[in-house]
Amino acid sequence: MSDTSMVSWSLADAAQKLDASQISSVELTRHALDLIKARDGELGCFLLVDEKGALAAAHASDARRRAGGALGPLDGVPLAIKDLIVTEGLVTTAGSRILEGYVPPYDATVVKKLKAAGAVLLGKLNQDEFGMGSSNENSAYKPCRNPWDLTRTPGGSSGGSAAAVAAGLCFGALGTDTGGSIRQPASFCGITGLKPTYGRVSRFGMVAYASSLDQIGPMARDVESTAMMLGALAGFDERDATSVNAPVPNYLQGLDGDVRGLKIGIAKEYFGEGIDQDVRDGVDRAMSALKGRGAELIEVSLPLTPYAIATYYIIATAEASSNLSRYDGVRFGPRRGEGEGLVAMYEKTRGELFGPEVKRRIMLGTYVLSAGYYDAYYLRAQKVRRLFSEDFNRAFEQVDVIICPTTPTPAFRLGEKVSDPLQMYLNDIFTVSANLAGLPAMSLNCGFSKEKLPIGVQLIGKPFDEQVILRTGYAIEEDVP
Ligand code: GLN
Repeated sequence: MSDTSMVSWSLADAAQKLDASQISSVELTRHALDLIKARDGELGCFLLVDEKGALAAAHASDARRRAGGALGPLDGVPLAIKDLIVTEGLVTTAGSRILEGYVPPYDATVVKKLKAAGAVLLGKLNQDEFGMGSSNENSAYKPCRNPWDLTRTPGGSSGGSAAAVAAGLCFGALGTDTGGSIRQPASFCGITGLKPTYGRVSRFGMVAYASSLDQIGPMARDVESTAMMLGALAGFDERDATSVNAPVPNYLQGLDGDVRGLKIGIAKEYFGEGIDQDVRDGVDRAMSALKGRGAELIEVSLPLTPYAIATYYIIATAEASSNLSRYDGVRFGPRRGEGEGLVAMYEKTRGELFGPEVKRRIMLGTYVLSAGYYDAYYLRAQKVRRLFSEDFNRAFEQVDVIICPTTPTPAFRLGEKVSDPLQMYLNDIFTVSANLAGLPAMSLNCGFSKEKLPIGVQLIGKPFDEQVILRTGYAIEEDVP
């Protein structure tokens, strides 16, 4: 078995080969570590590689398997974690200088769950600072490149996660999604990424960006692998007050390609001007595949779509300005202006260690929350947010799942939008609504552009109906390889 064959394996393939004793976890892990050494210099996916920890976990997994006590399908599979998620004893920076060298004293619930499932954790993945961005260019440490074209961005903010999975440096990764940060990079890198329903996966131990929108979710090569990871991550957590106590279904069930009678909504507002023709063609291919398998395509309307970006960027920045007030040089990370008085220390620490986009968001958020503007911006945005949910509720009276593009264009070039924040924000037009309404949504590949760049199609489901999204995605994947 050659190295190149392993690069093309999905997480599900790796799990199956482990199960059949065709390969050991140590072999898989060594392979991943070698590949990281060989390729990550140019890709920039990892902020930290925990070689020792990963190999120790792999040895332990192999020993369990030999004793006949594998913990489940993820036992022994090398995965990696976005650096916005805390890991006990492993530096967690959130992509920011303000947390440089910060070693969390505990694991996020999702990390605990992956460890309990036997997964091998390779390290921490690059991202936009605090999850703020759509290109990974706001990482305070280094850029990350798209493995399909090194001159292009992998998307963001979970750019390191998407690029690492696409390049085969790990078999799956955790991402976080506040306004599209799992789905947009998944789309740009040709992989699958799922943002679960708000409350489905614990946020305990996720460095908060905008708490009412944030969710952690799986990113992997294909739908089956994504379903396997979601099964390990989902569930109630008393440490997250917004976590919902609902049973976790078997997400692998129903992945059989049968979508007969399924009602698929085509949101007409998502197919307007400004969409790249290749993206349109890709989504068309996915829709034809579903139709060919007996699904029913029905036009629905989500009339508030034009207001999604404005609403999202008011709510997200407002919450961010509050969440980020905790980084003051006192409790976490490095300190500047020591001995110059408390106010000078706050100012210097925050002034020197937050990046420009984070400062922009804090200022925007502080502005929309300030006396005199609160009603006009924040309160109004909250009311519009409610209307987004009502829009979706109406659509879901008619259909089971909604299909649309994930992004208006394939991956753009590094540097192309970074000096124009508004252009960058507009890239999130199709992803933010699902966060505003708390709905589950997944991006999966539906082919390539003329320039050989991956195209993503997005599926949005009813609350806690990740199953229908996975089932629909699986059927698309069967026909659109
Ligand atoms: N690009 C969006 C933002 O910058 C979404 C980020 C995310 O989902 N974390 O806010």
